[in-house]
Amino acid sequence: MPGLYLHIPFCRRACTYCDFHFSTSLGTKDRVLKAMARELEERAPGFDNGPLSSIYFGGGSPSLLEPRELEALLDRVRRLFTVDPEAEVTLEANPDDITAGRLAAWRQLGITRLSLGTQSFREDRLRFMGRAHTAPDALRSIDLIAKAGFRSWTIDLIYGLPGMDRAEWDEQLTIALDHGMPHLSAYCLTVEPRTALAHQVANGTVVPATDTDTAAQFDRLMDRMEAAGFLHYEISNFGLPGHLAVHNRSYWTGAPYLGIGPSAHSFDGRTRRWNVAHNVRYAQGVEEGARYWEEETPSPLERTNEMLLTGLRTTEGVVLSGLPVDVLEEHGDVVRRYVEQGQLVHTDGRIALTRTGKHFADRIASDLFLVP
Ligand code: SF4
Repeated sequence: MPGLYLHIPFCRRACTYCDFHFSTSLGTKDRVLKAMARELEERAPGFDNGPLSSIYFGGGSPSLLEPRELEALLDRVRRLFTVDPEAEVTLEANPDDITAGRLAAWRQLGITRLSLGTQSFREDRLRFMGRAHTAPDALRSIDLIAKAGFRSWTIDLIYGLPGMDRAEWDEQLTIALDHGMPHLSAYCLTVEPRTALAHQVANGTVVPATDTDTAAQFDRLMDRMEAAGFLHYEISNFGLPGHLAVHNRSYWTGAPYLGIGPSAHSFDGRTRRWNVAHNVRYAQGVEEGARYWEEETPSPLERTNEMLLTGLRTTEGVVLSGLPVDVLEEHGDVVRRYVEQGQLVHTDGRIALTRTGKHFADRIASDLFLVP
């Protein structure tokens, strides 16, 4: 079932590792929100894929919007689209924006799921990452959310930080689990080009973690989460039964989704479209009726590679007969090799990563890529 993504491109400050599209100046907020409302109006009629099963406010930092601004967007969505009564409605939130009053307001608006950008419960790590919140904010917010009565909630944590050891990573997971967290997204710190972190690494002030350390932390993550009863349903995602994220699954399974706002991506099952990652150029494009997006229709071969990359990250893996191009004909030897090495399973026409294979998901997918 289809999903709707709304990108709120504003943050209080720039985290050192982040390469998402956002601005720390709120000067264009009203203009961008108005343009998003208009984009919704213009694109809703062409998005005819059945009732929405998920609505996702991402960014950026959607939690810095006033509840009335979120309400205006949600009202418009509900007027323009048929929304499944059980739809998942997620709001990404930062710990420094969490108050009991805001949580109550968000629930009132129909937000069913909160995604909290915790990243770490330690002050030194939060300062290192340039986060706007403090360690007490992280603890206080998770406490409040656990009691707020949302249908589900999740937190993000980052491992693979320079110098992180097993005791530190264990402590982070223990704090999260002790608060009854029903879902976790855990990401390994990556050094993205043109970020402050990339600059720090280049000038030698930061030494990235070793592959051995990050692999050990990923193993520990899987052990702890499995022992706590979580399903490891995607490389970076763990959920208790009944708490697996609906929205992200549309990205992994090839379901159609509509992306609204600067830099937002859309896929209608055939064509991909992405809006310009610039707040003023986006708003101007919408206001003037000029083109503010690019699009492309992936070839069957490109679509196959995309499906391998995303599908292999999931527990279900990839149904080979569902791929536009026959991968076994091209790369049967590669599949056999990874099966022999214990990194892939190939049963009932499906390939999926083993626990060992999860360490090498991107490499295995790229070895299976089809080359024109
Ligand atoms: S709050 Fe999120 S989107 Fe904003 S800079 Fe930090 S990581 Fe990036």
